[in-house]
Amino acid sequence: MKNRSLLMIPGPIEFDPAVLAAMGAPTTGHLAPSFIEAFGQALERTRTLFQCKDGQPFVLAGTGTLGMDTACANLVEPGDTALVVNTGYFGDRIGSILERYGAQVTHVRPAAGAHPSLEEVEKALKAGTYRVMTITHVDTSTGVLADIKNLAALGRRYGALVIVDGVCSVAGENLNMDAWGVDVAFTASQKAVGVPPGLALLVASPKALAAFKARKTPVGSYYADWTNWLPVMQAYEARKSAYFGTPAVNLVFALNVSLGQILQEGLEARFSRHIRISRAIKAGISALGMGQVPLTDDIAAHTMTAPRYPAGISGADLLPAVTKAGVTLAGGLHPDIKNEYFRIGHMGAVTQGDVLATLGAIESGLAACGYSFAAGTALSAAMKVFAEN
Ligand SMILES: *Cc1c(COP(=O)(O)O)cnc(C)c1O
Repeated sequence: MKNRSLLMIPGPIEFDPAVLAAMGAPTTGHLAPSFIEAFGQALERTRTLFQCKDGQPFVLAGTGTLGMDTACANLVEPGDTALVVNTGYFGDRIGSILERYGAQVTHVRPAAGAHPSLEEVEKALKAGTYRVMTITHVDTSTGVLADIKNLAALGRRYGALVIVDGVCSVAGENLNMDAWGVDVAFTASQKAVGVPPGLALLVASPKALAAFKARKTPVGSYYADWTNWLPVMQAYEARKSAYFGTPAVNLVFALNVSLGQILQEGLEARFSRHIRISRAIKAGISALGMGQVPLTDDIAAHTMTAPRYPAGISGADLLPAVTKAGVTLAGGLHPDIKNEYFRIGHMGAVTQGDVLATLGAIESGLAACGYSFAAGTALSAAMKVFAEN
């Protein structure tokens, strides 16, 4: 393992050995009793993770983008209206998906790094009638954390179905579908859920399912159509089998292991750990004199950090130097500021040791780029946070 780089990007993340062992176990048939039990349990645990007691979970082979596609395809009919609370690249993407299914889309789009105020969103809601409103919980291109609780309440008040892209948040940030009135939320296996890429996890509230059942037109995507998947999910949860498309057997076994670990840790404890780790990383970055993309601390995600490069240092120089020091980080993603910042993912089974390794590698990279700072600056700032918490 000595030549292995620590993977600290916003997905895929580092995976727990027990999860990887489940991935590597001999593949069973999708009708095997052991698989039926694991899939059924994984569905139940998915519902618990999304905090949606009467929600309908879907676990589908595909990526997070399939979650986005599924939510939009099943809830939107041609001519419907949609409001996108857009905090970056993935807001643009869900806007494109909504348009593909025939929606007329309005964006509330502040500058990169900003979160629109509730007043701005309310103004947009008042100016039209919206079938759906979408919010990206953590936009991975900016590291901006949306205030789902208050935004969802606004969306509901104006009669919109609320869709939350939780791909960079679920299992790292608190997302309480029941308490906050979220109608559909989804994530992908490779982010805070802690399973290799290949699964989309989605939960639909009873209200969302009722809206789907009241559609006048067929769903515009054959693969994503809940008509096809609903009987399958219901069957496995009842510990029976049903077929529409072959489930990703090994990934589902791995998912059930990871969800077991997540619920064993406890959601509250897990969210607190992500906050502690995020504070330590951000304290280290600030101590080195680097800014961050989110304009204020209260809108900064706890699953990732988006530091701005110091003046005179480029990603082309810094990121390879950090890799050389043993840690893989990600470059910028938001088209407006792509070359101005980089991204550190810190979700899932991330530890204090990973934080220190990451900050140490960033210090090594900065030193290699000729940046002037006292060695150990970031490490001691992070240690201070850990000592206080
Ligand atoms: C990663 C991500 C996606 C897309 O997920 P893929 O698995 O890459 O398709 C969508 N939304 C957000 C917020 C993400 O972080």
